Order: sequence, then structure tokens, then C-alpha cells
Amino acid sequence: MGIYEELHVPRIINAMGTYTIYGGSKMSSQTIEDMKDAAASFIDLNLLQKKTGQAIARLTLNEAAYVCNGAAAGIYLGLLAAVALHCGKKIRYLTRQDLKESQILVFRSHRSPYDIVMEQLGVSVTELAYSNHTLPCPQEDMDAAISHRTAAIYYLESGWTAPGAPSLKETIEAAKRHGLPIILDAAAMLPPADNLWKYTKAGVDLAVFSGGKDLKGPQASGLILGRKELIDLLLESAFPKHGYGRFLKVGKEEIVGLYSALKQYLAQDQEARLQDAEDQVKLACSILNAHPGYQAARSYPNEAGQPIPRVLVNLTGQSADAKDILCYLSCCSPPIIASAADQSSFYLNPMTLTKEEMEWICSQILLYSR
Ligand SMILES: *Cc1c(COP(=O)(O)O)cnc(C)c1O
Repeated sequence: MGIYEELHVPRIINAMGTYTIYGGSKMSSQTIEDMKDAAASFIDLNLLQKKTGQAIARLTLNEAAYVCNGAAAGIYLGLLAAVALHCGKKIRYLTRQDLKESQILVFRSHRSPYDIVMEQLGVSVTELAYSNHTLPCPQEDMDAAISHRTAAIYYLESGWTAPGAPSLKETIEAAKRHGLPIILDAAAMLPPADNLWKYTKAGVDLAVFSGGKDLKGPQASGLILGRKELIDLLLESAFPKHGYGRFLKVGKEEIVGLYSALKQYLAQDQEARLQDAEDQVKLACSILNAHPGYQAARSYPNEAGQPIPRVLVNLTGQSADAKDILCYLSCCSPPIIASAADQSSFYLNPMTLTKEEMEWICSQILLYSR
């Protein structure tokens, strides 16, 4: 009996992708081994954080890096460092008033459930442009919004944003004109692996990634990459130091686990990995299309904007709708989770599946339509 069986929590076959609520991703045996090694010794945590940051910076071609406990925490810490830089103080000397008077600019179409960290930090948030408006925000409006109170621009890079924000390139240009840092939420923007340095090379000051999604690090880990001046400010007041960042605890196991996972991520054969996804999509299409009740096709990119194909399954000529079949799949043993596309179609995402699992899912789907 495994630990999940003891706790009566069923293991799931995940055809949705790297969703936090279903466990994000699975760690490799090498990562688990390295975390086990890390867990078994005492070390100086400040030194571990500093040395791991330096090693990750070298691996990702960045000036500096900091391992935190998730991308949402990383955005909080990144903005905190930007406020400290803006106020010309170390983080631990920042007052509530300093935070309140520091303005963060955000585009309305970039508002997300994760950006509540701005409220928690206590900064003043100014929204720009419109959500769902396809006309770009004029440069002039950005310039007009920036004042001596502006500490940073928060930019979200994701497949989930609505239209209505200027491009990252235009935003970087505006930020540079005013000497402002850009803190980028790129939590789910992997693959491709070169995003780990692409954004910062393009002029983003700090890029934040989730460690528990495609990086396959510990689920409670995240990565802040970029400008050394800002990360040095963080090292003074983020965990394990006392201060504003102390409550965002990241253990030796997560620090080592993320480092280990990142090394493996950069060493993996990206082409082979994409080919595996393509093969899974082909396999699913060939199995499902042999049945008159289904029409399966390759869909690209996926909902998070990741350059990985998925299978879009259409229920042609069936009385059931997508909700019914997803409900049926969730009652299989082990339960299968997948996401609906619309009333009569759903997706199968190979990103978090093996070929064997994809094949098994398809066989379960065919059983349903008997
Ligand atoms: C997943 C995600 C986050 C949060 O990442 P965690 O590592 O779970 O904190 C933040 N922003 C976006 C766009 C995400 O997709």
C-alpha cells in the first residue's frame, strides 16, 4: 500500500496538462534521489540558496537566480525587490507607506487570479488599457501613466491573456525609456527551454517561472531569474532571512530538487520530447478515428500557449455531450481527467501522459461508446 492509498486519495491519469490542482508534474527518479540526499543532512541554508542561485544563473545564462516556493511567491518577491530599488532602501527598511506609495503598472488584460500578490504586498496598482480590446495601448498612454511613483511594470506572458496589451517588446521599450524594471510572470512558459534566458536577454529585469509545472521540480518551487541588483536585494530579505520574505519558506529539499530538475530539463532532447507528443497525438487519432462516433485531430498550440500539440476529440453523431464522457472518464479506475473544449468536444493533452496511458485512455473512450 502506498502513501496515497493509506490516505484514500486516488491516483489520477492526467490528460489535462501541468495543472497545480492535480499535482503539477511528476519528478524524475534522479530529482527524487537528489532531494532525498538533501533531506538527510544539515547545511547552511543561506549558503545553499546563494550557491544554488549562482549555479542556476550560469545554467540559464542569467546574471542571477533565486529559488522560491512557487511562481506566485516569485512575483511577490520580484515586485518587492523592485520597490526596494525604487525607494533606494534595503527591503527590511521599507515602511508600509513606502509600499503604499509605490505604483505598479499592469495591463487590464493581464489581470489574473495570481496577481492578488500585489494587494498582499500593499503596493498601489494602476491598470492600463482595456481587457479584450484588440487595439494596442498607445505608447503615449504608457508614458503618461508613468510617474516618479512608478516602481515597476508587471507583465503576464501566457496563453490565457486577453487581447488589449502592447507586446512585450513595446512594453520593454517604454520601461527602458523611463528606467523602470519589468517583472514578468512567465510561470507556465516552458517549453521551449530557451525562454529561461530569452525574456531576460530581451530586456525583462526579472522573469518568474513555476518549478512544479514543465520543469518537473518540486511542486512547491519557483524560479526568479534576471538582474543581479534586484536578486541581491532579495537575498537580504527573502527566506531564510528574516523580513518581508520570511513567510515564503523554501526548504533545502526544494532548492536542491529544483536545481536537479533544471539541469535535467536543459539536458533533455527537446526534439525527442516534442516527437513523443506528436506520436501520442497520432496514436490517439488513429485509434479514435477508427470509430464512427469520434473525430479526433491534432490541435496546436495548447491552452497555455505552450508549443505542444494536443488531441481535440469531437463527438460526432453521438447523443452524449463532452460533459457526459468527461464524467464517465473520471469514474474509470484509475480516474482519467481531461478538459472540455466545448459542448461536444474535449482535449487529451500528451504533456503529462505516457504513450501507454494515452492508449489506455483511448480504449476507455471506445468502451464508453459501445
Ligand atoms: C501556474 C501559474 C502561476 C502560479 O505558479 P505557482 O508555481 O503554482 O505559484 C502564476 N502565473 C501563471 C500565469 C501560471 O500559469
